[in-house]
Amino acid sequence: MKYYGNVFRPPSEARSLIIQATIGCAHNDCTFCYMYKDEPFIVRKFEDIVADLEEIREYFPRFERIFIADGDALVLKTEDLLKLLQYIKDNFPNVKRVSAYATAGDINRKSIEELKQLYDMGLEMLYIGFESGDDEILKEIKKGLTVDDYTKAMDKCKDVGFKTSITIIVGLGGREKWEQNAINTAKLITATKPDYVSYLTMRLYQNTPLYRDYKEGKFEMPNAEELLVEMRLFLENVDSEGTIFRSNHASNYVSLGGTLNKDREMLIRQIDETLKNKNFRPEVLRGF
Ligand code: SF4
Repeated sequence: MKYYGNVFRPPSEARSLIIQATIGCAHNDCTFCYMYKDEPFIVRKFEDIVADLEEIREYFPRFERIFIADGDALVLKTEDLLKLLQYIKDNFPNVKRVSAYATAGDINRKSIEELKQLYDMGLEMLYIGFESGDDEILKEIKKGLTVDDYTKAMDKCKDVGFKTSITIIVGLGGREKWEQNAINTAKLITATKPDYVSYLTMRLYQNTPLYRDYKEGKFEMPNAEELLVEMRLFLENVDSEGTIFRSNHASNYVSLGGTLNKDREMLIRQIDETLKNKNFRPEVLRGF
């Protein structure tokens, strides 16, 4: 099995077979994102993907989960994705779940019929990076998407039946826009009610435009305490019954997990305890 460049997958896909159907990210413009900055976006040939899979199938035919990488595999033409999903169905009979990263733009570009075909062929779960629910911040970070795009994409996912796992980022608005980041992201999660929310903590990476803004004094990075206050404000405002909430990523200063809304008070209490005792996850452990 060959992999090219940096390969990323959600933490919950740690035991999945990763299939690199594309290399890099078709958008690759978000100012905070370091993931594929040095890689051109490439759609791999179906024959090459299958050659890799044939190789691994010989030794590990019993995978139960498959994750289609890289950054936004749903950007592929529907017919190409269907071909790949059909191959998985025919050759990995133990697979119970296929998932992929997707952008709201990818989802909105496909018709409901196309999305249904993908779902029926086994694509069950989509990981979507909202990052923020604030249009001003989304514009500043060059996400290329709006709150309206997210809402439309999530409506389509619900119509089709996809499970959705959403990433949001505390600190993305810097010190200046922390309140609007918390409140408007809570509003977006409330409006879209995903199955899972993963709350990451902003980190500055040297090869990103946002890092350059930070060095030039145009972006003020909140400290650990301020970031937890922002998370607290998000939790106070979100209303998304049944959503599994996690902030257990390596980037987070405190590891939280629970189900909204029933665990909201417990999650807020954990934040308050951490703020009181100042026992934030040490910086040295926040590397990936
Ligand atoms: S955050 Fe996602 S969409 Fe934006 S550049 Fe990174 S991988 Fe691409």
